[in-house]
Parts: sequence; structure tokens; C-alpha cells
Amino acid sequence: MIDLSKANKKLWQEVCGKEAGDIWNCFACGTCVGGCPAAEAETPLLIRSVVRKVLFGLEDELLEDATPWMCVTCNNCEEFCPMNVHPFQVIVGVRRWQVRKDDSNVPGAVVEIYKSGHTQAVGKAKELRASVGLEEVPPAIVKFPELLEKFKAMLKETEIVKEYDYMFGG
Ligand code: SF4
Ligand code: SF4
Repeated sequence: MIDLSKANKKLWQEVCGKEAGDIWNCFACGTCVGGCPAAEAETPLLIRSVVRKVLFGLEDELLEDATPWMCVTCNNCEEFCPMNVHPFQVIVGVRRWQVRKDDSNVPGAVVEIYKSGHTQAVGKAKELRASVGLEEVPPAIVKFPELLEKFKAMLKETEIVKEYDYMFGG
């Protein structure tokens, strides 16, 4: 049961406003989830549920939701939505809103970039790549240890890594 007693009716305007397209037309069909690669992430992004939280004004739930940081900005959801909602713009808006609300909210994606050069770990990626004849690990920085160390050294100079160094390990 959703408790709407503390719902913030203006949340959708704070998060994305007109950029979200016809967000009030969303009828939770889930087509956006079906075409979303981040729905396969280790922490799956279920974009329909993110859009629902925005629409219902569920501020606390939205602030705690780390899944928008799993989005890989492919834009599939924008192409697939039959109701002229702009789900990707909702996701980008949620990210901005979360950081504005709580700048100590370090997204998991930042930690993952620091550790591997990827924005997120995709659980089945190696298996899927192998099944279509690709190398298990794509030729990203994680394949080149020396470059990865240089990349980490560069990131260590950023404020976010300095401030939250306990999250970033060695
Ligand atoms: S595809 Fe569009 S209408 Fe369907 S759940 Fe996603 S945002 Fe809502
Ligand atoms: S833009 Fe983001 S939310 Fe939309 S389908 Fe791609 S990964 Fe999923």
C-alpha cells in the first residue's frame, strides 16, 4: 500500500517539469523497462517505478533510490514510450534533484567509475558478450592496468573522492 499522506504534489515539477513530456499520461505499461539495458544491472533500474515515485510525490523513496544512476543514457525508453513521456529526462532530473537535496549522496556509479572505469557493474555482461562471440571484458580502461592507475590518480584530485575516500578504497 502506498502512503500518500506525506506526498509532495509538486515533486514532478521540482524533478523534471516540462522536460518530462506528458508524464501524467504514463499508465505504467512497462514498455520503457522492456527496452532498458539498465534493467539488467546488478541493481536493476526499473524506470516505470521511478516515474511512479515522481508522479506520486514519494520524496523519501525517491531520495533513497540509487537505481537512476544505473542508466546508461541510451535513450531507448524515449523511443519506446507510447505516451510521449520522456523517461530519460525523468532519470536525469532525478539525479540532479538527488544531488541538490543531499550532496553527501554519492552515487554508486561514481565509485564504480573510480574502481573500474565503468559507470556500473552489469551482472550478466560477461556471459552475454561471450554468447555472441565478443571478448568477455570490453576494451575499456579496466583492461589496461597502468592506464587505470593513472585514471584513479586523476580522480583522487577531485573533491568528491577526497571527501569520501573511505568509499573508494585503494
Ligand atoms: S513506457 Fe511510457 S507510459 Fe509506459 S510505463 Fe514507461 S513512461 Fe509510462
Ligand atoms: S536511457 Fe537510461 S533509463 Fe532509458 S532505456 Fe536507456 S538506460 Fe534505460
